Amino acid sequence: MTPESSPESFARDLLAWFANAQREMPWRESKDPYRIWISEIMLQQTQVNTVRPYYLRFLKAFPTVTDLAEAPLERVLKLWEGLGYYSRARNLHKGAAYVVEHFKAKVPANPTEIRKIPGIGPYSAGAILSIAFDLPEPAVDGNVIRVFSRLDAIATPFDTPASRTRLETRVRALIPQAAGDFNQALMELGALICTPRKPDCQDCPVKVHCQAYANGNPESYPVKVKKTKAKTVQMVVALIHNSAGQILMQKQGDDGIFKQLWCLPWTELNDREAELALQSALPFKIHVQGHLATIPQTLTHRQLEMAVHVCQSEIPDSLPPGWAWLDPNNNPDLAIPVAHQKILAYLKAHPLLMQMYV
Ligand code: SF4
Repeated sequence: MTPESSPESFARDLLAWFANAQREMPWRESKDPYRIWISEIMLQQTQVNTVRPYYLRFLKAFPTVTDLAEAPLERVLKLWEGLGYYSRARNLHKGAAYVVEHFKAKVPANPTEIRKIPGIGPYSAGAILSIAFDLPEPAVDGNVIRVFSRLDAIATPFDTPASRTRLETRVRALIPQAAGDFNQALMELGALICTPRKPDCQDCPVKVHCQAYANGNPESYPVKVKKTKAKTVQMVVALIHNSAGQILMQKQGDDGIFKQLWCLPWTELNDREAELALQSALPFKIHVQGHLATIPQTLTHRQLEMAVHVCQSEIPDSLPPGWAWLDPNNNPDLAIPVAHQKILAYLKAHPLLMQMYV
């Protein structure tokens, strides 16, 4: 911050702005730590407007931590479908069971205990403790990193846990009594004013405290580390129909990209013929009839190239566990990752292509 700033004047300017500028959000209507926990996990890597309907549906289905703990994981994943990063849903489910078992179904208002809950890292812990209980705990997310890297004109990248811990110490020293509002105000400032590109410095409530603004170069921060290129994964996907027009789906195991979700049968191509690759991965005899389409999908660290092949197969009448027939027009039950939903959407949009093989 600038030599003229003090912790008090910074907090005062920030909180005065937040009191008027904060957006209405369903999770801001409650101080229930369980609800704040759900919202904070959903908001990781995801836009507010995307989260809103998911949050409302999720809380309607699981209004208390006990409801969530007792629900089958399959149902939790289904309600998460389309939100991505499914490990968040799995951890929430595990975390709810942990809270029921170890904390009598009450989220603890204690930094050490809350961090024992699966899926609650330093950021989520700080957000829940400050917003629900007004404890002076920092909640450092990407927005807060950006805002502070500009306020303090920090010349080194935030690429290590140590740099994050340093920033947590810095934020902790500034937190006033209204800890929850302070942390939310920092996040809101990063989301609305101090945006990654073209920050609105003219309207910024803390511009008098900002070194990057004084230097005239806010967009140079945060300083970036060089990114490694996303790895391309070539997948071959089997599209297998039965006579009722249903599509064969396979539940994934506990490892891999789509763990525990339902996918069309697939495997990595690894320079093999599609039929050979699929045959080595599937327990049924298959014959590839033709290549339908190659559908791309970008994940955080991977670029998927999904080559969909129409296949004939000798499938037994009663399917073994972990396999199911999916009606592509009516699927209330199976949780399917976005990449494979994209394949199903492609099939719906191109019915004529399918007819070439049926
Ligand atoms: S003055 Fe500009 S760069 Fe500084 S905190 Fe405000 S919006 Fe961000």
